[in-house]
Amino acid sequence: MMSKKEMRFGTTAIHGGLKPDASTGAVMTPIYQTSTYAQHEVGKHKGYEYSRTLNPTRDALEKNIAAIEGVKYGACFGSGLAAIDAVLKMLNPGDEVIATRDLYGGTHRIFNSVFKKYGIEFHFTAMDDLQAVEELINKNTKLIWMETPTNPMTNLVDIEAVCALAQKHNIISAVDNTFATPYLQQPAALGADIIMHSATKYLGGHSDVVMGALAVNDKKTAEEIYRIQNSTGAIPGPMDCFLVLRGIKTLHVRMKQHCENARAVAEFLDGHSRVAAVHWPGLKNHPGHELAKKQMRDFGGMLSFSLQTDTQEAAHQLVKNTRVFTLAESLGGVESLIGHPVCMTHASVPQKEREASGICDSLIRLSVGIEDSADLVEDLEQALEKR
Ligand SMILES: *Cc1c(COP(=O)(O)O)cnc(C)c1O
Repeated sequence: MMSKKEMRFGTTAIHGGLKPDASTGAVMTPIYQTSTYAQHEVGKHKGYEYSRTLNPTRDALEKNIAAIEGVKYGACFGSGLAAIDAVLKMLNPGDEVIATRDLYGGTHRIFNSVFKKYGIEFHFTAMDDLQAVEELINKNTKLIWMETPTNPMTNLVDIEAVCALAQKHNIISAVDNTFATPYLQQPAALGADIIMHSATKYLGGHSDVVMGALAVNDKKTAEEIYRIQNSTGAIPGPMDCFLVLRGIKTLHVRMKQHCENARAVAEFLDGHSRVAAVHWPGLKNHPGHELAKKQMRDFGGMLSFSLQTDTQEAAHQLVKNTRVFTLAESLGGVESLIGHPVCMTHASVPQKEREASGICDSLIRLSVGIEDSADLVEDLEQALEKR
């Protein structure tokens, strides 16, 4: 076996943290569909006891996710939001959080509609201005929450710079790495303390499971996360863990194609007369293009665009007319999806925040899948022609 240091990303995705099953030699991690385990003697048992605490299939997935993020510890949860919930439960009443302004709608909702009433205060800022971030820091600031590229505007946050600022003030830094995946960027290498995933998206990759994950390098932080995971119990089942393990084995192959297809779609939309603006970090006129080149391996499979006729009706008309792109929530699966953030993913974000983030009425979000890119372009072409 190669040592961990020698492994490149694709090899780590397939082998990282994994061994053939100890009892049978099974190459694929078995689905340990059990809640409990036989103990040999009272009080002296070492190993698995109860599946909320530890399950071999989940354990394998947690180690694999840690390996692809380049850290020591992973923890899986019943959804991405359950993973975010676990991070917030590390805080105390009176603590303050600074977060990227155009966050995933659900993250915004858990911050403002659940944790605010437990006495935690949230501040939102674009994060392209480091001074504005620093001005929000006070002695109560305990966590800086980043999302990059953002959803749905694909704005970039300079992970290394914000993490350095957090470190200077002794604040925990966390990055929602759902859009980029560790194939495109590894936040821990840029200084992040906690990496969060909605594994529902690219890690699972096949739109067949809902799951969340955290990855950390610090032992004490990991112990605190495992304590919360076991005490509050939002764990995923072994079957779902198996599905995500299987998904991750092709993460690097899928991501290459997602990026290549997104480029074809972005360049097509960029030249279309009905399109007002295209937001994809790979376009040279994207405000985060240079930063994306620095901190990401490629530019990702998510993009959004607005129409010259900036109305919700125009957007609704378009999303009704696509045949390959399916109108649906979620992202990161092999199939292409189309959505209207204002009425779907971001309906829970207050209008004021939405407008400040540039989410206009006609904004359309694409999760570009790994179908043949010519079919994707032709599909959008015919949908844009229909009025
Ligand atoms: C989907 C998503 C989440 C929430 O994850 P769930 O698995 O749906 O709970 C969080 N952040 C981002 C960026 C997402 O896309």
